[in-house]
Amino acid sequence: MSGIYIHIPFCKQACHYCDFHFSTTRKHQSRMVKAICQELKLRKEDINSGINTIYFGGGTPSLLSKTEINQILQTIKAYFEVNSQAEITLEANPDDLSDEYLKEIASTEINRLSIGVQSFFEDDLKLMNRAHDATEAINSIKLAKTYFDNISIDLIYGIPNMSIQKWEANLAQVFEFDIPHVSCYALTVEPNTALERFIAKEVIAPVNDDLARDHYDVLQIQMRNRGYKNYEFSNFGKPNFYSQNNLAYWTGKPYLGIGPSAHSFNGYQRSWSIKHNIKYLKAIEAKQLPLEIEHLTTTDRFNEFIMTRLRTSLGVDLNEVEAKFGLTYRAYLTDQLQPLLKDQLVSVNSNEVIHVTENNKFLTDGISAELFKLNLE
Ligand code: SF4
Repeated sequence: MSGIYIHIPFCKQACHYCDFHFSTTRKHQSRMVKAICQELKLRKEDINSGINTIYFGGGTPSLLSKTEINQILQTIKAYFEVNSQAEITLEANPDDLSDEYLKEIASTEINRLSIGVQSFFEDDLKLMNRAHDATEAINSIKLAKTYFDNISIDLIYGIPNMSIQKWEANLAQVFEFDIPHVSCYALTVEPNTALERFIAKEVIAPVNDDLARDHYDVLQIQMRNRGYKNYEFSNFGKPNFYSQNNLAYWTGKPYLGIGPSAHSFNGYQRSWSIKHNIKYLKAIEAKQLPLEIEHLTTTDRFNEFIMTRLRTSLGVDLNEVEAKFGLTYRAYLTDQLQPLLKDQLVSVNSNEVIHVTENNKFLTDGISAELFKLNLE
């Protein structure tokens, strides 16, 4: 089981917090689509198992026309074996989701929409410099529901000065629309973003970790009460609506990342493409792959296994650690666990599977770091 990720590197405007790769100049969009198809052809041997998930991410994939989406999907099907039940997701921004556009994409093989709502409040959307407003956020969901069952929305918590009541009101909208899947991310201040500059100039209040934790704790309780499973740290789904793409990523399945800045993983090495649209286009047009490659050591793979599995509801199975990495790694992990068990930050169940304890889920990444092994290879 493998996945294909397609990075569409264009956006209408730059959100203040974003450090993804994108350009607000769209004049090379059709050239980019051709190059993405060319890269798929050049890398047709890179994945040799069936494709179960295709994910259009970005950037803003909802800037693609129906013809461009079909062009990419037809190329994927020409060079890869795609499972007939494959999950095919398009990330979309609310301002792109007109009735006409939704009708067009519903006629393609896209069968899942991930809508970048982020907040239902005007002031939050302005603070983040999103291209849509609160009315568009609401209308896009109403319209999307008439064309798609499998819908996810993204929300951001920990926004400076966002009260608990306001965060609860955002979640209440999710419940009112009965959205089957939600991804929630803490607002983070990435280097060299507008958000970092505005905070430094005191135009925007600093992002506060305690506030983010309070929001995350509310999120956990409310989602649980409404029947959503927190199958991965940031992801909540109703039964049968867990994202296959997310699950594959968090359980270490291979994926092929196509487009500028896209990352790929084949189980033992990671590669990533150049973060520059023109350089990417020129390289691909010359039939060269502008990739950097990192070979993972056993310790790298062990650390990634811990980090990704601890974030999921699967947890870290000590027997699987032993089978994958050997007794030395199992013994190391067991030693590292002891202080965390004493502080009740993690638990180990009767099947020898490690989970972060319910009240400490917000600390998951920090807890993983305590379990990492130093890379001495
Ligand atoms: S729309 Fe998405 S990718 Fe584009 S700038 Fe905003 S957050 Fe970044």
